[in-house]
Amino acid sequence: MRDTFNRKIDYLRISVTDRCNLRCRYCMPEEGVPSVGHGQVLSFEELFRVARIAVEQGVCKIRLTGGEPLVRKGLISFVERLCQLPQQPELTLTSNGLLLAAQAGELKSVGLQRVNVSLDTLKPERFEQITRRPGLEQVLAGIYAAEAAGLLPLKLNMVPIRGVNADEIADFARLTFAHNWQVRFIEFMPVSGGLDYPPESRFSAAEITEVLRGIAPLQELARKGPAGPARLFQYAGAKGVVGVIPAVSEHFCGECNRLRLTSDGFLRPCLFCENEIDLRTPLRAGCSDDDLVRLLRGAVEIKPERHHLAEEQGVQTRIRKMQGIGG
Ligand code: SAM
Ligand code: SF4
Repeated sequence: MRDTFNRKIDYLRISVTDRCNLRCRYCMPEEGVPSVGHGQVLSFEELFRVARIAVEQGVCKIRLTGGEPLVRKGLISFVERLCQLPQQPELTLTSNGLLLAAQAGELKSVGLQRVNVSLDTLKPERFEQITRRPGLEQVLAGIYAAEAAGLLPLKLNMVPIRGVNADEIADFARLTFAHNWQVRFIEFMPVSGGLDYPPESRFSAAEITEVLRGIAPLQELARKGPAGPARLFQYAGAKGVVGVIPAVSEHFCGECNRLRLTSDGFLRPCLFCENEIDLRTPLRAGCSDDDLVRLLRGAVEIKPERHHLAEEQGVQTRIRKMQGIGG
């Protein structure tokens, strides 16, 4: 599928739930998300139908996210069904890692290829401050289990915030000396209204890169094809690589190849724009596969040229917060 700016759209992110077993301060309110009612969340059957049609239309990569995808019962069979599609889409998952130790082996055995684990600190008390729950040890166990299961290359995502965890950028970067991991630093994105950190505490990609360069000589790696938004670097002798994702400061919209499906059945052509296409109503009204193809192509058609996050001032109130879309 090509959009009106001639971008090839072949990547679908599916949020399988907006529920989570953590309460990261910048993503979830303490009390969790207001209950949308089970009936509003698409069944795995419905999610699969949309995914199948997207794959038939040329989507070749699917990422499962949330909320926390591993809290939804039945996820493993869903992964298995997606992997059995004749087109064999690449299947990946983004997780907070808490339940990964228990599920990594099975996920790999049904066909999951890789996981991205989100982790903002290596300090147990700080983990509890940021996520409002204990669990660092479990997450680390999940990371090692994913590596042992062969969910490779393993990617760690860290969002550095001044006065919260930015002093750990170097500790995270140094993990790449011993581990063949991709440790990625992501600019904070102000999309969650009252939960957002104030502008002065956000760390820009340029500042992150400066810290990374201060650790040891750093070589930038050439981009191989549409490598996604990360700029990748490597320290001499390191096993892994570090990445910087300038999500806000240098929007990479020109290379965006994504569509997002929310757990309640809306197709979202851009993470940062409110335009969405309702699939749940037609799905439940008995629409045909051709109708779904038209809706899917309609979402591709309204994909905006770029987002305007960097120009936005003040607190933005959006209909959906990050846990509702999946990042
Ligand atoms: N629960 C899973 C996890 O944490 O990996 C998947 C969903 S979570 C919404 C996906 C990613 O979005 C996480 O890496 C999280 O750190 C990131 N995220 C959430 N809010 C963010 C924000 N405002 N700016 C940047 N990243 C954010
Ligand atoms: Fe949950 Fe992920 Fe949001 Fe943290 S970032 S509250 S783990 S959905």
